[in-house]
Amino acid sequence: MKQVAILGATGSIGSSTLDVIARHPDKFRASVLAAHRSTEALADLCDRFRPDLAIVADPACEADLKAHLARRGLTTAVAAGEAALSDAAASSQCDTVVAAIVGAAGLASTLAAARAGKRLLLANKESIVMAGPLLMRALRDGGGDLIPIDSEHNALFQCLPGGRPELSAVGVRKLTLTASGGPFRGRSRQDLGAITPEQAVAHPNWRMGRKISVDSATLMNKGLEVIEAHFLFDAPPEAIDVVVHPQSIVHSLVEYVDGSVLAQLGNPDMRTAIGHALAWPGRVDTAVKPLDLVALSRLEFLPPDRATFRCLDLAYAALRAGGTAPTVLNAANEIAVAAFLDGHLPFLAIAEVIESCMDALGTEPVQSLDQLIQTDLTARHTARHMMRRL
Ligand code: NAD
Ligand code: MG
Repeated sequence: MKQVAILGATGSIGSSTLDVIARHPDKFRASVLAAHRSTEALADLCDRFRPDLAIVADPACEADLKAHLARRGLTTAVAAGEAALSDAAASSQCDTVVAAIVGAAGLASTLAAARAGKRLLLANKESIVMAGPLLMRALRDGGGDLIPIDSEHNALFQCLPGGRPELSAVGVRKLTLTASGGPFRGRSRQDLGAITPEQAVAHPNWRMGRKISVDSATLMNKGLEVIEAHFLFDAPPEAIDVVVHPQSIVHSLVEYVDGSVLAQLGNPDMRTAIGHALAWPGRVDTAVKPLDLVALSRLEFLPPDRATFRCLDLAYAALRAGGTAPTVLNAANEIAVAAFLDGHLPFLAIAEVIESCMDALGTEPVQSLDQLIQTDLTARHTARHMMRRL
């Protein structure tokens, strides 16, 4: 029986994870559930899944969570605050940690799980973009496994021998990430001037949280994923390619030097990647609809429109610059996307804010976690300053 901590239990990945867990009560148990502020939703999950511990990241919500639990007659232990997330991730209350918090807020608990040698199911791509070298070191020191549940990286993991081999030693030439192209595929820059948050979060193929939905619309999601692939698989930027595939059926591909290309296919449903990562190296039924190739009949592949969706190349630039540049990219993106969602920044200005932050802050070699946290704060401050000037 695997004891699973789900950090970000009330979100889109959290609920897909709990759906898979509920189908296999003989194999998995949700032992820790954590959310930011949604106390009522968290109490409902406690009622259904009976974890040992429930955590709210915002300490101001602790009393509220306790009241909701008491009203349901539950005696679930409660903890609050960011440190409680890291403590739980490293504790004997779990052997598997699903890192499904959105944004840099997930970094500390992701690192804690890696250091403690847990099986780490990584959805929180911002933490690996922000602190890739430190996360990979923590993973080596902790001795646990990281199984990506970002669908593209889970696909690559499945198409590589042994999951995370040295690529040149096994004859890999190239990793190709597929991108749906988001809701604005085919649009020109002129079309994108007056995009509203509601239009941007209406993704054609996936139902996801608001931040990642905007990232998909700008193609920054794919940019973050290029950086994620670099750290996860130790692949140089020139060996990572992006192709637009509007149907989201081929989740990514690995090209070998003999001309073989291995791909992982499936209907666009995160429960496939989550079920794979929970059960690995085994397999479990996830109730995902089987793929009907004849009904699909055709799959398309197109080059990304890099001139309209500039965030993709900004991410490649950050990866090539190395050091703290990806940390700056991620922080500036989080601030710009939040401002766009609040109606304070035009859609096309997201890329401008990120680019001016990267220009202003440059890069430094990565030395420590404290340094990266400071870089993240400085980049957020700089992004807010840039937005005031726009
Ligand atoms: P979401 O917005 O639906 O859920 C986010 C979860 O994180 C919620 O449970 C929320 O309570 C919690 N949270 C938010 N801020 C927090 C904070 N400061 N401290 C602690 N908890 C906090 O987001 P999502 O779509 O589930 O995405 C979660 C992560 O998974 C993101 O990093 C995203 O990029 C990644 N991801 C998501 C998908 C998807 O299909 N949704 C696919 C691939 C990767
Ligand atoms: Mg993805």
